[in-house]
Amino acid sequence: MATAKPRNAIAATLIPGDGIGPECTDAVVAILDAVGAPFSWDVQEGGVAAVKACGDPLPPALLDSIRRTKLALKGPLTTPVGGGFRSVNVRLREEFELYANVRPARTVLPGGRYEDIDLVLIRENIEGLYVAFEHYIAIGDDPHAVALGSGVNTRAGCHRIAKFAFDYALKNGRKKVTIVHKANVMKVLTGLFLDTARDVAKQYDGKVVVDDRIVDACAMQLVLNPWQFDVLVATNLFGDILSDEMAGLVGGLGLAPGANIGADTAIFEAVHGSAPDIAGKGIANPTALLLAACMMLDHVDRRDLAQRIRKAIDGTLLEDKVRTGDLGGKASTAAYANAIVRRLS
Ligand code: NAD
Repeated sequence: MATAKPRNAIAATLIPGDGIGPECTDAVVAILDAVGAPFSWDVQEGGVAAVKACGDPLPPALLDSIRRTKLALKGPLTTPVGGGFRSVNVRLREEFELYANVRPARTVLPGGRYEDIDLVLIRENIEGLYVAFEHYIAIGDDPHAVALGSGVNTRAGCHRIAKFAFDYALKNGRKKVTIVHKANVMKVLTGLFLDTARDVAKQYDGKVVVDDRIVDACAMQLVLNPWQFDVLVATNLFGDILSDEMAGLVGGLGLAPGANIGADTAIFEAVHGSAPDIAGKGIANPTALLLAACMMLDHVDRRDLAQRIRKAIDGTLLEDKVRTGDLGGKASTAAYANAIVRRLS
């Protein structure tokens, strides 16, 4: 289903998603409209919503749409735990080779546990321990007596994510890249990542500082002294965990956006999931998805519009003090979105 096209429109796929996804995407689209964002949306179902509509969590129409637009804004998609269908998020990343997951964590609301956080995590998105090479071995009567899983890191994959991280640092005026690994124990799987990233770093000598951390020490140091970090680059599993930790440093998942970037396709989303506990109540915080939409505007070279929205978010939260419940306020999703729209107009 396509919406009306603004002039000089950029075609983009919109996936409302599951749980709080539709509430958040409604709010975000209203704000994008208010700022005159150039997107012409092709709305597509995915996840549980698509299973209900057509029996497939990743319908061909959704894939065709992204193949055509190469650009998407995605609400969260529910993944069954244990059994059930495989994560649609993971399949989308694989299908479109979205190898880089960019997750900024910036203080929006002062007065939290940490002030002035401004970090970016670049997570490898399609290799490592998330390739799902897993199986059980039966012993006696127990078909699940042993569980086996393997990770896959390729030199080419490590090279391209490290290059992405250093290029990102250069382009965005960042000073340092920290390579996160566990090469003391997983000497092969994450040793290749560390060695390759160190090799790539040599090409940025004098332009970007490089250091490295073992993942467990990095997790602790992010809590003790997050300001020592700038850009972090990590394998898939470590990056997934650290990016949620970093979201915690800046006030939780309601404020954390993410981008999945490939050679020719990009999908923007919030870090949070479908939040079934609050879905349908109209109280979800849409800021994370809105900040993801700002990254999407940056991506299509409309930094001017992205900055206007970021400023309106700051004004709404800090001056108007209109906030959703997760940030200690009383505003509904719609009331918060309306307050941002008022600032933009
Ligand atoms: P979650 O992020 O959905 O929720 C964790 C907690 O944070 C909940 O208490 C929730 O109410 C709260 N929360 C999350 N987003 C919020 C928001 N915008 N405003 C206010 N509160 C918010 O994590 P979960 O419960 O572990 O996962 C639920 C489902 O989402 C699972 O099926 C999971 O697989 C899926 N998921 C999807 C994505 C994605 O699509 N990218 C990411 C993570 C989880």
